[in-house]
Amino acid sequence: MFGRVPKKSDNTKFYEVLGVPKSASQDELKKAYKKAAIKNHPDKGGDPEKFKELAHAYEVLSDPEKREIYDQYGEDALKEGMGGGGSSHNPFDIFESFFGGGAFGGGGSSRGRRQKRGEDVVHALKVSLEELYNGTTKKLSLSRNAICSKCKGKGSKSGASSRCYGCQGTGMKITTRQIGLGMIQQMQHVCPECRGSGEMISDRDRCPQCKGNKVTQEKKVLEVHIEKGMRDGQKITFEGQADEAPDTITGDIVFVLEQKKHPKFDRRFGDELYVDHKLSLTEALCGFQFALTHLDGRQLLIKSNPGEVVKPGQYKAINDEGMPHHQRPFMKGKLVIQFHVIFPESGVFSPEQCRKIESVLPMRPSKHLTDMELDDCEETTLHDVSAEEVKRRKEQRQHRHREAYDEDDDDNESAPRVQCAQQ
Ligand SMILES: [Zn+2]
Ligand SMILES: [Zn+2]
Repeated sequence: MFGRVPKKSDNTKFYEVLGVPKSASQDELKKAYKKAAIKNHPDKGGDPEKFKELAHAYEVLSDPEKREIYDQYGEDALKEGMGGGGSSHNPFDIFESFFGGGAFGGGGSSRGRRQKRGEDVVHALKVSLEELYNGTTKKLSLSRNAICSKCKGKGSKSGASSRCYGCQGTGMKITTRQIGLGMIQQMQHVCPECRGSGEMISDRDRCPQCKGNKVTQEKKVLEVHIEKGMRDGQKITFEGQADEAPDTITGDIVFVLEQKKHPKFDRRFGDELYVDHKLSLTEALCGFQFALTHLDGRQLLIKSNPGEVVKPGQYKAINDEGMPHHQRPFMKGKLVIQFHVIFPESGVFSPEQCRKIESVLPMRPSKHLTDMELDDCEETTLHDVSAEEVKRRKEQRQHRHREAYDEDDDDNESAPRVQCAQQ
């Protein structure tokens, strides 16, 4: 009897997500969603997946029609009913429709009318690496819309506005036109007379300060504190400082830090600083010492250990001389120096000098070619190939490869090549 019972579609998950019984009333659903959504809101450090799940469960169960389908046939039936895609509402929209715009902890602001949220204003703020290392404050002057102080955003002397005639106060106008025999097309657009506000203020009543616009332009100076160790792309937010508008929750002004390229230092992996330094061959072999000017103007003395040989491209690091950690600026990363060795040009050494150099350098490889082996070899000539040329060829090749990627390519570059080594 328990053999092949078809799997019953799950229709309890959404109730479990919200933590309510299947008999829950709309009111209980609402309360449960509200409580859980605040607790799990990503802005408050909650899990975004859980937050999404809650919104989805609430969205379905709060709609009587969807709830009935769900109770009877489960989640899959809803997906089918909605064209395969299921619900794709933004969980934040659902949350905000509840709280009137992300207002945490603020109790009864939902008096039926939903306040819309004004747009955030985002500015890029260019900063130098020195500024991110040392920290700084920038004063920025911005102009923005502010609610008119004289009329408090009403636009008229005494709040005397009347309903717009053009749209009967709806802010929208519907025009109809006949497009065929007995066929009428309806079009909706923003009322041009009141520009969508739905109200008209007579010239007589119009506020003299804002001329009925409800807002006035205001200059505002913001002090942006750039803290030590902040990063490229980091945001500094001034909450509720963007353009004001009536019946609107003012958005934020957001500065996004954009680090200018530094001529000497390169910041990597958050708090490491990279710098290139050229050594002469003599310094690389026999030791070096030089002063490096840091981002705060200090001179660091950098020197090799006795007897140390530095190879081309080698890295060396100094602890605690990298970028400061943001919020823990007393802790710093590494300063990494990559050494580049400048070799002498061809022809600078005479045969006599070569013999002298050779006398102190490590011995040549001991294996010499015998006369017999030499007889077996063919003569060749070496000529210069610049690194740029190799790079250009490689790019050309990749380009061709992309154009004809489906053609067979027997010239496989990744395969190891066998070479005739001469030792
Ligand atoms: Zn005014
Ligand atoms: Zn109108």
